[in-house]
Amino acid sequence: MLNEFRQDLVSGEWVLFVVGRTHSLREDEDKDFYQIKKQCPFENFQESGQEIIWNYPDSENWRAAVIKNKYPAMRQGLCTTEKNYGPFKLFDPIGDHEVVVYREHDYGVYKFSISDFTDMVRIYKKRFTELVQKSECAKYILIFHNQGRSAGASIYHPHSQIITMPILPPDIFRSINGSFSYYKEHKKRVYSDLLEWEQKERKRIVYENKEFIVFCPYVSKYPYEMRIFSKESHAHFNQMPDSSDEFYADALFTSLQKIKAALDKPPFNMFIHTAPLKDDFGVHMHEFYHWHTEIIPHLKIDAGVEIGTGVAINVVDPNDAAETLRKASI
Ligand SMILES: [Zn+2]
Repeated sequence: MLNEFRQDLVSGEWVLFVVGRTHSLREDEDKDFYQIKKQCPFENFQESGQEIIWNYPDSENWRAAVIKNKYPAMRQGLCTTEKNYGPFKLFDPIGDHEVVVYREHDYGVYKFSISDFTDMVRIYKKRFTELVQKSECAKYILIFHNQGRSAGASIYHPHSQIITMPILPPDIFRSINGSFSYYKEHKKRVYSDLLEWEQKERKRIVYENKEFIVFCPYVSKYPYEMRIFSKESHAHFNQMPDSSDEFYADALFTSLQKIKAALDKPPFNMFIHTAPLKDDFGVHMHEFYHWHTEIIPHLKIDAGVEIGTGVAINVVDPNDAAETLRKASI
């Protein structure tokens, strides 16, 4: 029975494993989340007043549309600097917030084929690259996909989001600093050590193709959490060569089919962690950082310990999670 604190090698965060005592994962309240087409703001962009940025692959036979988020978390404007209010620092949320809308209302990621994921990857990469060029104030770009209401999706129609931020988000700050410290101490990437060890132990690997590897991290904060790494190490997501798109799509497809089969279509958050856009480490970020994807199924609610201390409690041994996912037939 696994009962110990484990420290994340990159962020330094502690995770408490309490496996066996309570195995009460949350019942999925999401099964009934559905919105009819008639009320869907993504059925007719003109009618619902959405501003289209780009249709993929073209406006006639589009399979996905990139639109401006009508209720953005960031707003358009000129780059500003930090301000103060008493002892506090303030920053204007200048940035872009885009939505990638997939065409079919009832055809979400659990139904996507590898070719649909390849479309998704190409759209992500093109918008990422264009936003890097366009956004002078952006320090970070997050690409994410919320599936299900309890994972934060307020609209049923399948969509992903891309947001640029003028600050460095705390999770990225911790990871980038942690991996830079590791690099200074060991003269190598923390991610290379992590991947080498996972490949050697092979207990937590869920899936692998020629270019990508999927595993449940040894220090998983959440039950059945999965990470997808490219075997070629790049710091930024858009450095991935086009020839890798299909391998990445295959890894995404397989990961989501695995949680669909093993956990009965749970709500989840999926996001890409990539290096910050601005580099002031004195050494190129690919020397110590490695972009990757995280998939976090929503099976557990954070409670007193998590919110009160920042220590995540995980009730599933990552070895067991990986075995369940690996064996799930898709
Ligand atoms: Zn719709």
